[in-house]
Amino acid sequence: MSNRVRVRFAPSPTGGLHLGGVRTILYNYLFAHHHGGQFVLRIEDTDQNRYVADAEQYIYDCLEWCGLLPDESPLKGGPYTPYRQSERKPLYYQYAQQLVDAGYAYYAFDTVEELEKMRHDLKNEHNPNPQYDHKTRMQMRNSLSLDPKEVVELLNKQTPHVIRIKMPHNKTVSFTDMIRGEIHFDTSLVDDKVLLKADGMPTYHLAVVVDDHLMQITHAFRGEEWLPSAPVHLLLWEYLGWKESMPQWAHLPLILKPDGNGKLSKRDGDRLGFPVFAMDWKDPKTNETTTGFKEIGFLPQAFVNMLALLGWNDGSGQEIFSLDELVQRFSIDRVHKGGAKFDYEKAKWFNHQYIQHAADELLLPLVKPYFEKAGISADDAYMLQVIGLIKERCTLLPDFVQQGYFFFHTPKEIDLASIQAKWEDRKKQFFESWVEILQSLEQWTHDELEQSFNKTMEAHGLKKGDVLLPLRIMLVGGKYGPGVFVIAEMIGKAETCNRVKAALAQLGN
Ligand code: GLU
Repeated sequence: MSNRVRVRFAPSPTGGLHLGGVRTILYNYLFAHHHGGQFVLRIEDTDQNRYVADAEQYIYDCLEWCGLLPDESPLKGGPYTPYRQSERKPLYYQYAQQLVDAGYAYYAFDTVEELEKMRHDLKNEHNPNPQYDHKTRMQMRNSLSLDPKEVVELLNKQTPHVIRIKMPHNKTVSFTDMIRGEIHFDTSLVDDKVLLKADGMPTYHLAVVVDDHLMQITHAFRGEEWLPSAPVHLLLWEYLGWKESMPQWAHLPLILKPDGNGKLSKRDGDRLGFPVFAMDWKDPKTNETTTGFKEIGFLPQAFVNMLALLGWNDGSGQEIFSLDELVQRFSIDRVHKGGAKFDYEKAKWFNHQYIQHAADELLLPLVKPYFEKAGISADDAYMLQVIGLIKERCTLLPDFVQQGYFFFHTPKEIDLASIQAKWEDRKKQFFESWVEILQSLEQWTHDELEQSFNKTMEAHGLKKGDVLLPLRIMLVGGKYGPGVFVIAEMIGKAETCNRVKAALAQLGN
């Protein structure tokens, strides 16, 4: 493939961006970059009833956060501007008209009531869901069933009407999906979809074909839920005379619930306690906020890596890939046909890997807001040291607060019960004398601290197993954290001594 590769992500701005949508973006991006082609973002906002304000901006924000920026878009412009379908409205009519003139489409004047009546009257056990199709169209009010003179009159009077495709009866249409291979459809099963609405706005079906053609799209990747629309699109490509340049299609597998039972939905996330959207999404209609991967503490690189593997692998067993590596290795024919089960534990594993290996400087600006929210402030040098010490213990960004709190403040709670269980006089005496010795320690380094600790311990006839964990709990609050003498070095002499003394006071005799 040459530089001609042009792919597009064509979202309808109707709400938050689900994992599946971001994965479609990612596969488009990887494919385009792999082939040195262009990645186009086209906003498909022709369905004004489903339009949600803010949803378009939200898409840009997600693309930005993931680092998957398009080469052409409504914001960036490009050679095929405008990239927002509502702004392309005047352009579609001529194609709908061309289809009518050639006999592939027709005017339909039916009112909402008439359509409802048809669905009601024609409903029977053989046809539980009557649709506007080859079986019913001649009983409806359209340019196929009405007298031509009447049609002209209705048009002259500007009677509201739509344009529908005339789906052929008993025809098989086929295409080769890049993931699924040959796919055939029986056109008799498909209804006469509306192509142009009464207000002159195209429907998705017409607009997607016209724009993929005009924007010279070479490959179109979309979720498998769009497969049932494929026969309509195939016929439109043919009827408009563009069949030779139809993009190659790939219908991407669904992302499934963790148990593999059906498509992963926002509700599953709420129910099982994990995010399904890329970023926080506040529904302007309900004011309800759905948590995103970003806000729950994922690094975008980890999120993108995890998504890439949700339905694709390079066959080598490798799981950690930088974006550049993904670009190099990605191929659409290695995308699985079957749905990919979402596994939140695995998603967190990816994040943990990325946090562990990320430079402390990269983590600092990401972690700082969480620290600040918890009332923690310190100079950058100190924060960087803390980050370096605890990052291997952090899975999500907010974990830094929990894992690092004691470096900045006296712990709110001390697990005294764990010390108390094996507390004895000897230990108390040991800690009292060690705190004294600390006053005259020459250098406040973890090595010096450890040496003085060991010496005092031996002098009291104690072993590490007796006193090391109590010291940790006194300084940290619980049984976690990096090396205890490093902690003491970091928090300083006064704070170390205070914490030990405070614990001793509470432990009593
Ligand atoms: N506008 C469609 C959507 O919202 C795009 C489907 C396609 O890519 O053809 O997903």
